[in-house]
Amino acid sequence: MCQQHQSRASPNRANRTLLHRLLTEAVIRTFLLLAASAFALATPALAQTPGKPPITDITKQSGGIIAPERAALSLQHVDLALEVFPDTQKLAGTATLTLGTSAPQKMLQIDLDKNLPVSAISIDGKPLKAGSWSNPEGRLTITLPRPLKAGSKVVVKITYGGTPHVAIRAPWDDGMVWSKTRDRKPWIATTAEGYGCDLFWPCLDFPQGEPAKVDLHITIPAGLSAPSNGTLVGIDKLPDGRTTWNWRARSPNPYSVVLNIAPYKEITETYHSRFGNSFPMTYWYTGGRDTLARGLFDEFAPTVDFFEANVGPYPWGDEKLGVVETPHLGMEHQTINAYGNNYEKDSTGFDWLFQHELSHEWFGNQVTVANWDDYWIHEGYAQYMQPMYGRWREGEARYAIMMHEFRIQIANKAPIVSGQIRTEEQVYEDANGGPGSDIYVKGAWMLHTLRNTIGDDKFWEVTRRLVYGRPDPMPGNFQPRFSSTDEYISIVNQVTGKDYSWFFDVYLKQAALPELIERRDGGTLTLTWKAPNGKPFPLPVEVLVGDRLQLVPMTGGTAKIDVGAGAHVVVDPSSRLLKRSTAIEAYQRRMGRR
Ligand SMILES: [Zn+2]
Repeated sequence: MCQQHQSRASPNRANRTLLHRLLTEAVIRTFLLLAASAFALATPALAQTPGKPPITDITKQSGGIIAPERAALSLQHVDLALEVFPDTQKLAGTATLTLGTSAPQKMLQIDLDKNLPVSAISIDGKPLKAGSWSNPEGRLTITLPRPLKAGSKVVVKITYGGTPHVAIRAPWDDGMVWSKTRDRKPWIATTAEGYGCDLFWPCLDFPQGEPAKVDLHITIPAGLSAPSNGTLVGIDKLPDGRTTWNWRARSPNPYSVVLNIAPYKEITETYHSRFGNSFPMTYWYTGGRDTLARGLFDEFAPTVDFFEANVGPYPWGDEKLGVVETPHLGMEHQTINAYGNNYEKDSTGFDWLFQHELSHEWFGNQVTVANWDDYWIHEGYAQYMQPMYGRWREGEARYAIMMHEFRIQIANKAPIVSGQIRTEEQVYEDANGGPGSDIYVKGAWMLHTLRNTIGDDKFWEVTRRLVYGRPDPMPGNFQPRFSSTDEYISIVNQVTGKDYSWFFDVYLKQAALPELIERRDGGTLTLTWKAPNGKPFPLPVEVLVGDRLQLVPMTGGTAKIDVGAGAHVVVDPSSRLLKRSTAIEAYQRRMGRR
């Protein structure tokens, strides 16, 4: 199982990285070098081997089809006390879950990796007899002393601990990262987006298992810090010299609840928002690189302003904006984004990794998909915000260059949206038949095409309604929400007053791209969309005839225009539309990408 896990996790995940911005061969080489050094850093100095202890298929699954009795559960509150032991690479935890249920329950099924055995459980304060629970496969099944009625709630206290699974190559697979700083101090991180929260704590490992509130109490050795989700309630000093870091967060994605432990230094300043509110921004970083750390921190405010100006208020302004340096590349942990890009800016002049992960505070954390099948809403949007930020800073040329880098990576092997209920890895891993990195790069190009078709104002209104559920978000007038592809399409139709189902039927629900067939017959140009499976596709196209630009409506998917016999014609001269390109296909074949 371990070997299989390694071979599955490494190459696929490396291809698709969030991170999909690799693109020119030079950049790819640089990336591989960086990944190799990050991997070296992440390799634990002792004890646990990456990939060990092995985890079951149930633990690896996050999301997917949820049995009705599990879907009926809701996590109203989590109080999670975790002791972290870097020397032995073990965890000891007490999780007190307040669970509501909308259906009667005789048993409770809670996700927890079986490598973290349970030593005690109490229900509403009364200890259960040993034997009332079992966890053979990574799903803790608790027989309740009394059945629960629909509409009732129960407080389950679970004491557990053991040796948690160690990631092979976080963030492309998940688990603990037991690393060391440059001066050989513990540097610990977790990732869980693929395999889910059950790697570390008893949880409901599907998107709607999101707890309404979490209180975290992270106990660590003296001299270390434990920045985490939400607001710092306080730090307790224990008699043995250790400290407990108490954090309180609202509505974190289950996979977003995270450990970050190191002898961190800290930069904090107050952000004054264009919406009139203010909140702390903090960067926790490992020592020795203060100037670089300050340089990254100085990107926080202008990046937040880009999102606030175009999308809307920073969603967690009542908590904080947090970023923490990690031994792995990155992850969108809510209010404590993981940053491990080693301060490597590219020619855009901004740190794409920081910018991408911050984007997820809107796309992924504020709006979350209930079914991983709609994952493009997280990643397509986060990816698209990179060139949109380039455009905000420097204009259309920067935007076009960045979009081109994405364009040459689009694989078109599977539709972005399958219409089925999916686990995270069924979507993220193209080896599993999923769209893989197309949720990033093709998602971004779909959004590019949509913006060019409906205009910037309507595009941003669609985006605001998606993120906040309303067109006029202000701090305090919205809550985190779940969305879906179907809802997205209905928002586009509502905002534009037109039916754009045909647009999404092709770009999201078909693997192949639409092809624009051009035929020139003397003075007549005929344009015809050929969409996969004969789908209707009346997408308007710009045509430059000589120096005159015209928008061809393409009603019925075709148009004939009189251009004049000698005219030079360029179709879609600003690359506004995502369409098949035989040149890119040939390039991808040559580069071994097809
Ligand atoms: Zn992402």
